Formats: sequence, C-alpha cells, structure tokens
Amino acid sequence: MKVLVLNCGSSSIKYKLYDDDQQLAEGLLEKIGTSQAQLNHTVTGRKKVVSVHEVLEHHSGIELILSTLVDGEKGILGAIDEIQAVGHRVVHGGEAFSQSTLITPEVLAKIEECIDIAPLHNPPNLSGIYAVSELLPKVPQVAVFDTAFHQTMPEKAYIYAIPYVFYTRNHIRKYGFHGVSHGYVSEEAATMLGKPYNETRIITCHLGNGSSITAIDHGKSVDTSMGFTPLEGMPMGTRCGDIDPAVPLYIMGKEELNQQQINALLNKHSGVLGISGISNDFRTLEEESAKGEKRATLALEVFCYKLKKYIGSYMAAMNGADAIVFTGGIGENSYTVRELATSDLDFLGIVLDKEKNRNKKRGEAEDVSADCSRVRILVIPTNEELVIARDTRRIAVSN
Ligand code: ADP
Repeated sequence: MKVLVLNCGSSSIKYKLYDDDQQLAEGLLEKIGTSQAQLNHTVTGRKKVVSVHEVLEHHSGIELILSTLVDGEKGILGAIDEIQAVGHRVVHGGEAFSQSTLITPEVLAKIEECIDIAPLHNPPNLSGIYAVSELLPKVPQVAVFDTAFHQTMPEKAYIYAIPYVFYTRNHIRKYGFHGVSHGYVSEEAATMLGKPYNETRIITCHLGNGSSITAIDHGKSVDTSMGFTPLEGMPMGTRCGDIDPAVPLYIMGKEELNQQQINALLNKHSGVLGISGISNDFRTLEEESAKGEKRATLALEVFCYKLKKYIGSYMAAMNGADAIVFTGGIGENSYTVRELATSDLDFLGIVLDKEKNRNKKRGEAEDVSADCSRVRILVIPTNEELVIARDTRRIAVSN
C-alpha cells in the first residue's frame, strides 16, 4: 500500500513516499512563500534532484510535490491515484488525541481548536491537510500527533504550580512533544532488551535541533521534559529550555522588550547558540571546543549536565530504568555528548563502554554500555516518518 507522509512546517514541507515499509522517495521543499522555493527530491537508489520554483503557499507546494512524484523523469509513480493514503505529522493534539486518527470534519475542528495553544505549529499542519483534501479528495488522511504519546502522563507530572484555573480555562499544562520518536525508539529498545514492552522502564533522549527526554514506564510516557510548548526542558540549539521564569520578565523590563521580542530571544537566540555565541550546530561546537574555544566548551557542558540531571530525575521517577536510549541527530552521532551525559553515574548502575561508544557505526542501532552496566545504554536511529506511514496504513485499512 502506497502512503505519502507529509510534515508541513511554516515555510517548508518534508515528505516521504512509502510502499508498505519500503521508502520509494523523499524530499524537502524549503522557502515556501517566495519565488525561490527549493525542492530537493530523491527517489530511493537514484541521485538527488534540486529545482527552484515559485511556491507562494502550501497548496501549490503540495501540488508541486505530487507532480514531481508522477513526473516521467524525476518521478516514481505512474499515476497520482496510486497514493492510497496520506499521513500528516500534526504537532499539537491537545488533550483531545491520545493516538493517531483518521481525519474527519470533527477531527479537523478539534485540531483547529488547538491553534490557540500551538499558534506556530498547527496552522501549517492544517494547511497541508486542506491542500490534500482539495488535491486528492478521495484519499483518506490520518493525523499523527507529537503530543499523543504523552497523554498517559499522570496529573502530578503535567500540572504546573500556577492557579488551577489556568488549566481548566486556558488548557495550560505540560503536553510534551516528539512523541512519535520517543514511542518508536522505546519499542525498538524493548526488542533489543528482549523484554515485552509493557515490562520495561526506559529513558529516551531525543537530541536534535529540538531536544526532549521522556520517562517511559511499562510502555507509557510518565514524564517528559518539553512542556506547554517545545521551549521547556533541555537547552537546545537556539531555545533556552528550563530557566527561572522571572528571567524573561526581568529582561523585558531592563531592555524594554515586548512579548514578540522576548519570544524570539528565548526561542531563536538562546540555547547553545546563545551561550557559545558561535553556533547551534553541535559539530561546530565540538570542533571549536577542541580548538580551545571556552564558550563552545561551556555550551556543551551546560547541555550535557542538564541531560545528566534529567536522566537522574527520571530514574527517580521510575525507581530505576532498564535502558537509556540516545536518538536524534545529536544523540545518534555525538559520542562526546553520550560520554559526558553518562559519566560518573555508576552509582545508578549506568556505565558506558567508551571504546564501543566512540566506534559506534553511523545509522545502526547499538548497545554501547559496558558489560557490568545494570542499565543498558542504547543508540537507536529514530524513524518518525516510518511510524507515521505505519499508523496511516493501519488506520486507513481499518476504516
Ligand atoms: P531535527 O530536530 O531538526 O530533526 P536532527 O535530529 O536532524 O534535527 O538533529 C540535527 C542536529 O544534529 C544538528 O544541529 C547537529 O547539531 C547534530 N548533529 C548531526 N550530526 C552530528 C555529529 N556527527 N556530531 C554531533 N552533532 C551532530
């Protein structure tokens, strides 16, 4: 069954086309909203093709992607009606969705209600859904939510200590994100451990441009580091993560910044970029740190120290763990981050095999813990699109 997976951001669309679990094509359309939108399109086993187009909104972006997929030279499909279902990554499902779901008018209305709490993320996701409804009106569409996996968190983990009325009236609570990834790598980890998923305690560290840590107890998310928005938790590439909530108020007063400016400061100019003043890319930070750049070293240390504290606190939340999983661009590729974040945790039964960790092969799942480690340290490549394709297939077939 052929399924198209779409991840629509504010100015970009990522896509992958699957036939069952086999990836047929993938691509990224960037700079939507301009006459210089760039499409990087790759059919599996062939060379990447790059082209530039005028693409002013998501509708014409998706039209371009569909026509590329059936193009005589660049394409892979004989006809567009070979696509039997479309799966969308939807960032925020609020409290309405605890699993992936077929998109119906009622579901669409609920996703629209969530715009209020996810004003940056849900509108482009919805644009993608509307566009597909017009371009492929007969094809079932499925929404796969970043928040759904975390709907199992207990109240004590998701309620903030502010007046309760803000939860009941304004829906302010911890939601958590990256759920598709945390769910996928934790299930893969259970397989590697040789245990039934619902008998495991796993801490998953999704470390990429955005980073979040999740405690998964007997197959259920019980706590996660991102919150009401993806700004809470770990310091990230450009996001501040956990800070004293009084700090933004103080800066706003001192520097006479408005809400929009402080929002940009915390989301786009903070994190490891803000500390180092050099880059949000961990490869650059590691290179600069090796050359003796003190603030690059400090940024890496702040990141890894915070990660270590999250691991410790989630061990406390679950009374232990069977495994810690590293995933995402940084988690999968940076042996330095894995080494720093797990150093001196032997009192918790966490011992890394430094040699294995340094020699870990790119793109493969591997156990990098020492033989004596009670807690396994696993590196598992995430595959969010595959999860979306599988959910879409399952739901489209059963409806
Ligand atoms: P996203 O959250 O956008 O999906 P990714 O998971 O692809 O991002 O992670 C991107 C980040 O991964 C980059 O910003 C970079 O810092 C980091 N990264 C990728 N490769 C390496 C590497 N070899 N060493 C260290 N960091 C890396």
